[in-house]
Amino acid sequence: MNASLDSNVNYPWLHKSFDIDRLVADYPPPPTFFNGIFRASRDEVRALQEKRFLQTMKRGWEIAFFQRHWRGAGMQPGDIKGLDDLPKIPAYTVEHIRKSIEAHPPFGDFMGVAPGGPNPMPLVLQTSGGTTGLPRPMLYSPHDREVMAILGARRYAMQGMMPGDMVLVAFSLGLSNGGMANREILWKYTGAVPVMTGGGATTPTRRQIEICKAWGINVVLAFPSYLRHMALVARDEMGIDVRDFKVRMLGSHIGIEDRKTIEELWGAPCYDSYGTHENGTLATECKLQNGMHINEDAFLLEIADPETGAVVEDGERGSLHITTLFRDSAPQIRFNINDVSSYMTGPDCPCGCTFRRLTKIYGRNDNMIKVRGVNVFPEAVGVTVAADTRTNGEFFCIIERVGESGREELTVMAEVRDMAAHSGAVKEDLERRLKEVIGLRTTVVPVGLKELDPHTGTSQTSKVKRLLDKRKAT
Ligand SMILES: [Zn+2]
Repeated sequence: MNASLDSNVNYPWLHKSFDIDRLVADYPPPPTFFNGIFRASRDEVRALQEKRFLQTMKRGWEIAFFQRHWRGAGMQPGDIKGLDDLPKIPAYTVEHIRKSIEAHPPFGDFMGVAPGGPNPMPLVLQTSGGTTGLPRPMLYSPHDREVMAILGARRYAMQGMMPGDMVLVAFSLGLSNGGMANREILWKYTGAVPVMTGGGATTPTRRQIEICKAWGINVVLAFPSYLRHMALVARDEMGIDVRDFKVRMLGSHIGIEDRKTIEELWGAPCYDSYGTHENGTLATECKLQNGMHINEDAFLLEIADPETGAVVEDGERGSLHITTLFRDSAPQIRFNINDVSSYMTGPDCPCGCTFRRLTKIYGRNDNMIKVRGVNVFPEAVGVTVAADTRTNGEFFCIIERVGESGREELTVMAEVRDMAAHSGAVKEDLERRLKEVIGLRTTVVPVGLKELDPHTGTSQTSKVKRLLDKRKAT
């Protein structure tokens, strides 16, 4: 007999795999969100986090990866009694995840769910984007995937998206989670209509522009570089000013990119947010562009010194450690994702949301260096230099001690296309921009084209050098 015709086979139906009424009560989507946890007192938020954190710990002890990692650090079930104990839990990184996948292919032993059982459920698989080689897979339980859709919908509602909006989704489609997750977010919880063009490789950019015009697109979601590219293709190749589309908002992940040029090109506000392929939207700007509110009923975010692992003071930069509060598949408990950010200090955001805010994502800490106590990323310097089109994007950083006091100085050399015309202005503008972006006063030295090649090795090697730390020689 054909096994697939056997009526006793257990087909795990989506609508029976979680209690939807319970789920939307626990993680309210907009508009209920705005009258509930959005405005909760800090005590209420903390109480909810305590409860969900202890549930997450219980789930963690059921998963082989955490059992091994925690027992290896001398932990026992029940050791962690509440949020105050969070810093006692050993953090882990993507290296631990890679080893887990190597030892237990193909999905590792950190997820606690697997295709086919032992507790069959409809699973979704998506991956990280833009990696070389096989991307890292992530399996999402129906419950987790649904909460992620709600968290994403909160983001867009906070930024002004409305039911009936026509939303061009130019995040890549396929394995990477960005595009597909947005389709679920928009379709299920915003009342807006997702138009899934994907990146330029899926739908040519000219066609995307035509669609914007023909279908009345009034929201565009894309990475900053693609938003810029779209506007320039429209202007330079098609004679179209995208400001005429009257797009109301742009949803993006801005980080250290230059928001202003994108907003000017489109004539619309561009909003920052922070997400990962594993978790969806962790934090998002509201309409006020005033730091990124963390979805605190779903995540605990700690910021720790990358060297010592100690949690830093509010306002200081460090490496983000993620603890999920909503996940039953692949919970993360002190996952050091190596993205660098800091907490906003000062009064609450006037939007009324009491969720704490991250400033922005400054880059990855793998390349981080400390200068005068400030964490600096050569890549942030690079983006800033490249954003100035009078340079060719080539740069080199030198850190050294100067004077009797041994004061640490950062010098940024940048190749300028037309030294005679622009070197003075480039120096002045870049010094100002770098102060804003990396939070440190630098000395910018404009140089001619190809002059940095002996330092960087750009013409000889793909492993380009961007930094000389002379402090180490003394
Ligand atoms: Zn706000």
